[in-house]
Amino acid sequence: ETQKETLSFQTEVKQLLHLMIHSLYSNKEIFLRELVSNASDALDKLRFKSLSQADLVEDDAELKIRLDFDAAAGTITLSDNGIGMSRQDVIENLGTIARSGTADFIQNLSGDQKKDSKLIGQFGVGFYSAFIVANRVEVLTRKAGAPAEEGVHWDSTGNGEFTIGAVELAERGTTIILHLKDEEKEFADGYRLRSLIKKYSDHISFPVVMKSEPQETEEGKEAEAPQDETVNEATALWTLPRNEIKDDEYKAFYKHVAHDFEDPLTWSHNRVEGALDYTSLLYIPARAPFDLYNRDAPRGLKLYIQRVFIMDDAEQFLPLYLRFVKGVIDSNDLSLNVSREILQNDKTVDTIRTALSKRVLDMLKKLAANEPEQYQKFWDEFGQVLKEGPAEDFSNKDKIAKLLRFSTTQTGEAAQTVSLDDYIGRMREGQEKIYYITADSHTAAKSSPHLEVFRKKGVEVLILSDRIDEWMMNYLSEYDGKSFQDVGRGSLDLGSVETEEDKKEVEKAAEEHKPLLERLKKALEDRVQDVRVTKRLTDSPACLVVGDFDMGAQMRKIMAAAGQ
Ligand code: ADP
Ligand code: MG
Repeated sequence: ETQKETLSFQTEVKQLLHLMIHSLYSNKEIFLRELVSNASDALDKLRFKSLSQADLVEDDAELKIRLDFDAAAGTITLSDNGIGMSRQDVIENLGTIARSGTADFIQNLSGDQKKDSKLIGQFGVGFYSAFIVANRVEVLTRKAGAPAEEGVHWDSTGNGEFTIGAVELAERGTTIILHLKDEEKEFADGYRLRSLIKKYSDHISFPVVMKSEPQETEEGKEAEAPQDETVNEATALWTLPRNEIKDDEYKAFYKHVAHDFEDPLTWSHNRVEGALDYTSLLYIPARAPFDLYNRDAPRGLKLYIQRVFIMDDAEQFLPLYLRFVKGVIDSNDLSLNVSREILQNDKTVDTIRTALSKRVLDMLKKLAANEPEQYQKFWDEFGQVLKEGPAEDFSNKDKIAKLLRFSTTQTGEAAQTVSLDDYIGRMREGQEKIYYITADSHTAAKSSPHLEVFRKKGVEVLILSDRIDEWMMNYLSEYDGKSFQDVGRGSLDLGSVETEEDKKEVEKAAEEHKPLLERLKKALEDRVQDVRVTKRLTDSPACLVVGDFDMGAQMRKIMAAAGQ
């Protein structure tokens, strides 16, 4: 072995390794899913590249994953004849974590193993999960198309450093050798490995091949040599008809696509034929990723064209406010040599995006109707993102509005649990509008003097205190024929909840106190537009309101922060 050097892991990798080994102990078997997933990705990448570079596959065209073990030595070996890695690839991929926000994410882990294991799961542990069960990991790899002497040998015990050297490798692709920890040697077992492959990797697109188990030999007979056998179904899940797929298979496939430990909340699998021909399999995760609000975070669907993997994170197939959706789109209409640039300006893609947006909204509507508790979980994780919807996707604003959940004066709690339909169902007789209040915090909103009259009249008010709320309300003018009214704005119109008597009283008071109003108006001349008598208040002597067409308080702050 030549050109051997010892390198140090990036700090984040060291921290992640440490945390992972300690917090993922109860989920340790996922290491196999992660490594098989990587092998499958590597095969996908090779198949894609060979579309334009046919000689890459040489005489080794049968793409597969091979799994071997040695019980006596306590090793597991996983090989693929995929795209492989160059020396530089290895240093970058198996020594660092490129995803931005990683350092922050790790900083935010609590040290509580149970909580952290959930968080680490959604981060996507990947290759490093090998160190949960192994105390030494070796990687032998050669990039497709590179000569045999450009093989790379990576070796590490996971303690901060790895060595990298050059070896000759006759075949392209990657082999990973796990030297199991003493207490994990039970993984080097044929039945155990088979059942894990069936459990986690049954429906990846490539065969996972193992040697058959040695048969009991009859007296006087020669033992048969073990044969290669494929242990998984090796058919891409989404290509099967829905009625042939079990829920568990959908869930396992989700974990493969999304690198998540947890089951998805729900999914939708559809084949569309006709003017367009494509299959989509869309999942709603149970938990938001750590970088949901990072603009550069990976998002989008895995794109296949005629079963051939084309790219990860194809973000053109869903609008930004549905960026939490995971899954696969397989199109028969797009050309195999599409690029991200082409996807951006493609009519077919636009049509698919419109259809998929509807699908996701319908899937959420169904979830809300059939499993309200699950929907509430969804809302708590992703509601803030869905609130971007009315602005981004105006044509679907009514569907989105139906999915919104609010905190209101009725519940008195900060939790957002009330739908607009719930609200409308509780509207007072004669009430025509949907009232809401915006403020920086739930507490501030709740104690606002603007709510006094509503309490007195028993009229429910939506409490909006998320940063995005005021922005969202700019795009929601009505729902189900009822307009929205900010209670902190303009003159208050309570519809016929307000009696004639109430109105007369105000007029009378305005007449009586005219001189006082004039004096106040003069004194506050530069600061307010008008001073009025109001029925808004029952306890407070005075309050400020915003004009009907002026910017709200939150919007002013956002604009001020943006330097406007
Ligand atoms: P992810 O798969 O989410 O990118 P991983 O930690 O699982 O993260 O893998 C890191 C990177 O290492 C991969 O993106 C890939 O570039 C490379 N890699 C891992 N396993 C293989 C493999 N079997 N063949 C080729 N490249 C691999
Ligand atoms: Mg991976």
